[in-house]
Amino acid sequence: MKTKPLGPIPAGYMAIDGELAIAGRKASELVEQAGRTPLFVYSREHLDARVADLRAALPSRIGVNYAIKANPHPDVVRHMEPLVDGFDIASSGELAMTEAAGIDAKRVSFAGPGKRDDELEAAIAAGVTLNCESEGEAKRSLIIAHRIGKTPKIAIRVNPSFELKGSGMKMGGGAKQFGVDADKVPALAKKITAQGAEWRGLHIFTGSQALNADAIIEAQSNVLNLAVELTQEIGKPLPKLNMGGGLGIPYFPGDEAVDLKAIGAALHERVSELPDELANTELCLELGRYLVGEAGVYLCRVIDRKESHGTTYLVTDGGLHHQLAASGNFGTVVRRNYPVAIASHFDAEPDDVVNVVGCLCTPLDRLADFAHLPRAEVGDLVAVFCAGAYGATASPSAFLGHGPAAELLT
Ligand SMILES: *Cc1c(COP(=O)(O)O)cnc(C)c1O
Repeated sequence: MKTKPLGPIPAGYMAIDGELAIAGRKASELVEQAGRTPLFVYSREHLDARVADLRAALPSRIGVNYAIKANPHPDVVRHMEPLVDGFDIASSGELAMTEAAGIDAKRVSFAGPGKRDDELEAAIAAGVTLNCESEGEAKRSLIIAHRIGKTPKIAIRVNPSFELKGSGMKMGGGAKQFGVDADKVPALAKKITAQGAEWRGLHIFTGSQALNADAIIEAQSNVLNLAVELTQEIGKPLPKLNMGGGLGIPYFPGDEAVDLKAIGAALHERVSELPDELANTELCLELGRYLVGEAGVYLCRVIDRKESHGTTYLVTDGGLHHQLAASGNFGTVVRRNYPVAIASHFDAEPDDVVNVVGCLCTPLDRLADFAHLPRAEVGDLVAVFCAGAYGATASPSAFLGHGPAAELLT
């Protein structure tokens, strides 16, 4: 029978009494604690380990920021608070989340095209750094700051002429809605500082979800070179350089984890020989999915097992309304299987071929196609891995009225 491969299950998940265990706790026990399925479980153990690996690989000079759009669950944000250096937000809603988590505004920077006046005002009043995306936004920020009697902290987001090769989502190179074209940055920096803004430096984000270390190393090197060039033209010391991120996680068959050691080694070398322009510059990476993606598992329950024209369907109470990316409808061209397992029989040999689907009335709602898995019956739990980022908040949970999934940090 035809089978399609599944994505690689992230390291650190094992079986206890035959069941999938997350941070040492059985899936059934976690569902019992949450009181229901579908359920996102986020593991503190995994979050801690990932940050520790990054700290070990990166020069101590380079800070780690968390881009909270990847997973803004309040318990996750609060857990990340002491672990990382800074937080990147993309709306005033996310600003409120950092405030609720007790995060000092000095550690927060706000990127994103289309910041409304009320959002700029909230951020300036709080003392958050604005990663300015355009000349128009700079002008509005200065007017608002003047009106409320505050000095705005402004960095400029640069649209570089290069991109992060092989990244899942390109966010630099050519015409973009993000940032200010590199050649226009020096004039804008001079203008905003002349008009009273506190100069907070540059933000250069080149792409997302890259797995190739060489491409990441090349992009980071280009970012540092561009920052030096722009700083020379601006003629003021560069207080801070947000170097972007882009480190991806393996989602699909054949994907391999990024070689963090190679990236760390290249950064050690570059940082040891930085030119005078960047000698006192604060440096950071901003990461979303790399920090939290593999720490999350989506658990749903088999509601029905049925046959159609010789194909077996496991129909679950989960679906694309919580896990849009796993269904293949969040920026992928060809649908491929995420890492999926039968959580109730995690260490059993695969002896069945099934299509795992969600409960929505649309053929788009697929969690795994022709998956070679241990036999599952009604009542068993299915696990979808890599669910810690862009799951709960990046899926259309209002679609079809099933409502949001439960979420639990353990
Ligand atoms: C989305 C985003 C991130 C996080 O991307 P990941 O792929 O989750 O690491 C970081 N910085 C900016 C500016 C973003 O828009």
